[in-house]
Amino acid sequence: MLTAEHLEVRRLALDLARGEVRPHVEEWDRERRIPQGVFDAMAELGFLGMRVPEAHGGLGFDLPTYLMALEALAWGDASLGLGLAVHNGPVTRALDAYGSDAQKEAWLPRLASGDLLGAFAVAEGAAGGDLDSLAVRAVPAGDGAGWVLSGEKAWVTNGDRCGLLLVLARTGDEGDGLSAFLVPRDAPGVQVMGRERTMGFSAAEIVTIRFDQVALSPEALLGEEGDGHNVAADAASVGRLGVAAVALGIAQAAYEHALRYAGEREQFGRPLHDFGAIQEKLAGMAIRIAQARSLILHVAAAAEAEAPAEGIHPAGLRAQVAMAKVTASEAASWVADEAVQIYGGYGYMRDYPVERLMRDAKGTEIHEGSSELLRMWIALDAVGDSGLS
Ligand SMILES: Cc1cc2nc3c(=O)[nH]c(=O)nc-3n(C[C@H](O)[C@H](O)[C@H](O)COP(=O)(O)OP(=O)(O)OC[C@H]3O[C@@H](n4cnc5c(N)ncnc54)[C@H](O)[C@@H]3O)c2cc1C
Repeated sequence: MLTAEHLEVRRLALDLARGEVRPHVEEWDRERRIPQGVFDAMAELGFLGMRVPEAHGGLGFDLPTYLMALEALAWGDASLGLGLAVHNGPVTRALDAYGSDAQKEAWLPRLASGDLLGAFAVAEGAAGGDLDSLAVRAVPAGDGAGWVLSGEKAWVTNGDRCGLLLVLARTGDEGDGLSAFLVPRDAPGVQVMGRERTMGFSAAEIVTIRFDQVALSPEALLGEEGDGHNVAADAASVGRLGVAAVALGIAQAAYEHALRYAGEREQFGRPLHDFGAIQEKLAGMAIRIAQARSLILHVAAAAEAEAPAEGIHPAGLRAQVAMAKVTASEAASWVADEAVQIYGGYGYMRDYPVERLMRDAKGTEIHEGSSELLRMWIALDAVGDSGLS
């Protein structure tokens, strides 16, 4: 059930997106960067502390409020939305859920104020979703002096401008041999190797990072040694809902562009929106968006209450979050594709916004759990729930 507060936050975020973000999107996409001032402006309004508890200087939004604000900001610009989703999602969540009091005190207020941006480094060139194959390793420095981190992480969003990296690294060779570490971006030996040339999310800073014998204090370990799988799964579930909200923002933007264009463009002496084929597309787009938004908010409310939503099978939160993410990201790709089609030849041109949205949408089907892996987990949970396993 949406409250007046939810809607007010959404309105504020939309006003900001409309005034400060939308007018610059094409320029940011072309130049492949978002000026730091934009993140500073977001920080000023509290949007970098949306999920940081008020006790640590954040706004302490519940998940539905956060996701509505994120959708609105991603409607403004998906690359900005992605950066905010990583910062406010997995990084903040992991610290809040697994951090000691000292770790929370050290990092959360700085994340909330925008003094530091967060990044989440899991994937490597040889493995993304297959966590047991990760090779970046942290070895004890000896005498309880901390850890030494080595190896390379791929596709780290916010990876260069961030101040704090949440890194998943191998500390043992068995199944539970992964641990999570809080790594300052300016620690000696942390090197950004290069910026990826991505299909979409062009303005997002997606980079490869090498850890060259990075010395970490004992306080860098988040949770217990061997907790990495749990930290990553917990963090990724908030991250996954965040990417779903970004996808929804992309879909909503593509739909609005297409709706407007279909009213302006005339063929055969009538606006496009008079033709049945175009009406069918517009209706289909509206339906997919409404389905995705409903499911995201439903699952988000359940995740906030830490109890799976009733009446959805499979009954576990992992599967329900996965369903919301698959639904939203595939809706975004489909809606953006239809928007390009409605624009016709202009839709295929870089001068119009819908081709960018189509490129951005594709990334949401891959990042934070590819659709194939998420479907696999949904099916495994369904089989388990059915008593057939
Ligand atoms: C825009 C964007 C931003 C990103 N940002 C980050 C970030 O900030 N931090 C980070 O750590 N990573 C990030 N990534 C990386 C992303 O998380 C990985 O690309 C993703 O986890 C998939 O891993 P992979 O690329 O190694 O694909 P692979 O695991 O090699 O998979 C390749 C294909 O095979 C499928 N597949 C794999 N295993 C199975 C299976 N068992 N059954 C069926 N199909 C399977 C996959 O779904 C995919 O279609 C980002 C990626 C993108 C596109």
